[in-house]
Amino acid sequence: MSAPNSLLKTIFFTEILQGLALTLKHLIKGKSITEQYPREKPNLPDGWRGAIVHLRYDDGTEKCVGCALCEAACPSHCITVISAERPDLPQKRIAETYILDMTKCVFCGFCVQACPVNALASSKEYELATTDKRSLIMTKDTMLDLGDKYFRVREKRPEDSAAKINLFEGLKSNGFPHAKKGKA
Ligand code: SF4
Ligand code: SF4
Repeated sequence: MSAPNSLLKTIFFTEILQGLALTLKHLIKGKSITEQYPREKPNLPDGWRGAIVHLRYDDGTEKCVGCALCEAACPSHCITVISAERPDLPQKRIAETYILDMTKCVFCGFCVQACPVNALASSKEYELATTDKRSLIMTKDTMLDLGDKYFRVREKRPEDSAAKINLFEGLKSNGFPHAKKGKA
């Protein structure tokens, strides 16, 4: 572009006027391009990595067995698992305490991949803005509630072998030592 042309464009704000004309054209057409969030919610793709949630089996039992592999896999060190023996099934464990600090989570999904029983999933929960950071410390119950909200279809719970349960019950009545509480 020649120098006088460029100077004229600068003096008469040609480019700004062109931009305004384009805006006016879309305004008159009435076709909104900008997503009107939060009135309109975005249509998120499958595989979206939002808040991490806990899942249940079809009978409502939580899937987590408290193995803490997710804790080991997490690069941000934001998961804490304290496991305990299940009172109804000796030698089977659950996460008695499960805490996920969402203020540190980078939504990488490593914990989901590390879980041997598919107890974790990335949900489409993305509205996590808050004025109270303490609300982002997720407990297992909060994560189970979110799992119930986003994952309605549940996997069938594998049947516990009756023979195995009877064996453990027998061992238990004979004073078989129980595993201690604590970090797995
Ligand atoms: S998504 Fe990544 S950072 Fe977040 S809890 Fe899982 S492993 Fe940790
Ligand atoms: S890896 Fe899965 S089963 Fe193990 S503690 Fe984490 S969520 Fe629970």
